[in-house]
Amino acid sequence: MILNDAKKVLISREQIEQRIAEMGRQISDDYRGRNPVLVGVLRGSFVFLADLIRAVSIPLEVDFISVASYGSQKNSSGVVRLLQDLNTNIKGRDVILVEDIVDTGITLSYLIDNLKTRNPASLVLCALLDKKERRQKEPGILKYVGFTIPDKFVIGYGLDHAQQYRNLPYVSWVEEE
Ligand code: 5GP
Repeated sequence: MILNDAKKVLISREQIEQRIAEMGRQISDDYRGRNPVLVGVLRGSFVFLADLIRAVSIPLEVDFISVASYGSQKNSSGVVRLLQDLNTNIKGRDVILVEDIVDTGITLSYLIDNLKTRNPASLVLCALLDKKERRQKEPGILKYVGFTIPDKFVIGYGLDHAQQYRNLPYVSWVEEE
């Protein structure tokens, strides 16, 4: 597949920009005076996180964590592996976990359980996209959601298909083979 095949737009650049501005304002209001740590889940969330932090007007810190889920790209096996840990000690900190997309919820449930053992002062989840129909495990702390989307395999704006398409400035989708 070449980039031209991904011309279909599910969520436009303008819609993303507008929604992120709203989410940034909401986070700024909710965390005023608290200096939260925004933790991006690599790799898919890096584009969203980069735009989101610039929409937040209060002091904050950024860190990253990287996980991999065994199984095919489209179907998580439920077994999650930590590839790269945080540099920040989050004990006593207000943590906002930033994900590109919540699908089955398996990856996030693992991550949340893992981060909770480190005793943050608070822990909530912020995801650009929510594929609600596919949920198997509900990560109870999904506080900020950009868009709820149908059950399509989406690409662009940080999300890949076989490592391609992360550079699309909008969200598109891949037709089922
Ligand atoms: P979950 O554990 O919730 O099923 O899956 C979460 C991870 O699977 C996401 O962080 C993302 O990396 C990947 N994923 C789930 N749905 C999609 C999708 O539609 N497109 C892409 N590119 N990745 C997805």
